[in-house]
Amino acid sequence: MVFAGILPYNSDIFKAMVYRSSRYYESIQLAEDFYCYIWQGKGNNCNTCLFANVLRGERPHVIVDPGHTTNEFGEACFDYLIKAMEGNGFEVGDIGLIINTHSHPDHCQANELVVKNSGAWITLSEEEDEFRNTLGEKLYSMLGVKVPQFTPLFYLKEGGLSLGTKNKVELEIFHTPGHSPGSLCLYWPDNKILITGDVVFYGSIGRTDFPSGSLSLLKKSIDKLSQLDVECLVPGHSTEYGSIVKGKLNVERNFQTVKLFL
Ligand SMILES: [Zn+2]
Repeated sequence: MVFAGILPYNSDIFKAMVYRSSRYYESIQLAEDFYCYIWQGKGNNCNTCLFANVLRGERPHVIVDPGHTTNEFGEACFDYLIKAMEGNGFEVGDIGLIINTHSHPDHCQANELVVKNSGAWITLSEEEDEFRNTLGEKLYSMLGVKVPQFTPLFYLKEGGLSLGTKNKVELEIFHTPGHSPGSLCLYWPDNKILITGDVVFYGSIGRTDFPSGSLSLLKKSIDKLSQLDVECLVPGHSTEYGSIVKGKLNVERNFQTVKLFL
């Protein structure tokens, strides 16, 4: 099935394609060549997004937050992600770019393995990279993991990001500190999709008790995001309430609800 542009979902009917690739990931196709991999395991790991077939050349896929390699339960998160992607016909060796919403290990620990498999480039915000190499080290040792090793090719700044040539994906990048100092959110106006990392979830907000976390900055960031015209909010983690928030009205309600925490 081929989707053209935005899917006709609303609060009651959600017509995205849902594939259960394994018991560890549910893969959901939200637009043509755009897939979300929703983590279903017992331990912690982030959700991952894939813009497929956008870049020119032999490695056309762009991945957002490849997640943990292995989590605290010993679940082989990255192996399961590879399997889930293969279930949709995508190879990790064909990834040309990794975008990290932020540098917490449950979002970027697998960067190294993606690069090993594909030679992909990496990008995140400069603020976040600085944090990773300074205060972030404290966080990682607190969590008992080593600092994720990678070298970004370039830094993402707030503003437009144009991916690809033929299948162009025009994104707007938002700097949204609070959970982490250099957190980024990705907005895709053509499909009204917002990828929020750990800034806002279904019925909840990101933690601010990690080093360099700030509730007042998180509030400002969420205020900024809530101004956008969003049909589909894709958070970095699922909560007891759900994972993807679907439908403009539900997204607005979700922002209203989470603002009560701020
Ligand atoms: Zn995080």
